[in-house]
Amino acid sequence: MQTVTVLGATGSIGCNTLDVICRHPEKYRVFAITGNAQLDLLMEQAQKCAPRYVVVADEGQYQNACDLAQQRGVDAEILCGARALEEVASAPEVDAVMAAIVGAAGLLPTLAAVKAGKRVLLANKEALVMSGQLFIDAANQSGAHILPIDSEHNAIFQCLPADYRYGDLAASGIRKILLTGSGGPFRARPIDTFEGITIEEASTHPNWSMGRKITIDSATMMNKGLEFIEACWLFGAGADDIDVVIHPQSIIHSMVQYVDGSVIAQMGNPDMRTPIAYGLAHPARIDAGVKPLDFSDISNFSFETPCYVRYPNLKLAIEACREGQCATTRLNAANEVAVACFLEGKIGFNDIALVNEATLNAMPVVNVNSIQQILEQDALARTKANDIIRGKFQC
Ligand code: NDP
Repeated sequence: MQTVTVLGATGSIGCNTLDVICRHPEKYRVFAITGNAQLDLLMEQAQKCAPRYVVVADEGQYQNACDLAQQRGVDAEILCGARALEEVASAPEVDAVMAAIVGAAGLLPTLAAVKAGKRVLLANKEALVMSGQLFIDAANQSGAHILPIDSEHNAIFQCLPADYRYGDLAASGIRKILLTGSGGPFRARPIDTFEGITIEEASTHPNWSMGRKITIDSATMMNKGLEFIEACWLFGAGADDIDVVIHPQSIIHSMVQYVDGSVIAQMGNPDMRTPIAYGLAHPARIDAGVKPLDFSDISNFSFETPCYVRYPNLKLAIEACREGQCATTRLNAANEVAVACFLEGKIGFNDIALVNEATLNAMPVVNVNSIQQILEQDALARTKANDIIRGKFQC
């Protein structure tokens, strides 16, 4: 029996995680679930999976959460705030932590799980993009087992040899890691019409059902850029070891190409319960409730090279990856600000990349060697991005 904390339980990944866990009550017990704004859903989940703790990130919601828990007959202890997130991620009773809070807010609780040596199911890619080497060093020190949940990284993990040594692609005969992406909803849309892209259009992904921020990141392909950086850290790869390949059908979730000409791909229907189940049960396999892939349903299987004019955010992310930690931390922060402003109707779709680029260009590179410095750069880049938006777009 594994005891699991689900950080970000009310999100898309969190709900899918609880779905998989509920299919295997003999294998998994929920220790804690966490949420932020969706208190109703959080309490509904608490009724179903009976955790020991329910954590509300927003301290201002504590009393509401307690009242709701009482009305619903939820037995769990209600906690709130950033410290409580870290406590349920690192508690001695916990075996595995699903890190599925969106954005920079996930960094400290995810790191708490890593430092406590947990089995960490990493969905919150922003945590690794922000803290890279420090995150990997913390895992090495504590013995934490990081299992990638992003479908692409989970696929790469499945395609690598079982004895793959971190960072030594050559020793395993690996020529390239091929990171696939659907290209999002605007893969075929004329670029000169991008200015008019609406929030609704950008919020509809052709193949995946996901949270709001990652859906916009998929439309700009910043998501692929963040995944590029994430892949470098997860597998100890360099930027030249990874190619991004557009595969609009999202059936292949990524591939590894070997020097003998072999390419190993991981395939499946686009359903996050597959990588979640793999992360929970690794090295075993468990039923995830996912519809089996039926090749007679697949009429087309195609591949393209991404165009940076269409996807300037992808280019920015790859360049930031080459530049180093300071750039990737700032890019992640600027992008969170820009996406939030786009979703509030304050800036247009094309402006997301413009804000990101202007933020990076406006700040001289500095060394970042501690979590404190990373948090400082994150805050500075947010301020800069907001200033740029206020100055340039007058809102
Ligand atoms: P959602 O927006 O659906 O869910 C985000 C979760 O984080 C919710 O539980 C939300 O709580 C919580 N949350 C939001 N803000 C805060 C905060 N300030 N403090 C604490 N908790 C907070 O996101 P997804 O599930 O789509 O994505 C989660 C992570 O997984 C992201 O990093 C994403 O990139 C990654 N990922 C997602 C995939 C997907 O298919 N969805 C695929 C691969 C990776 P509440 O809802 O209660 O406000």
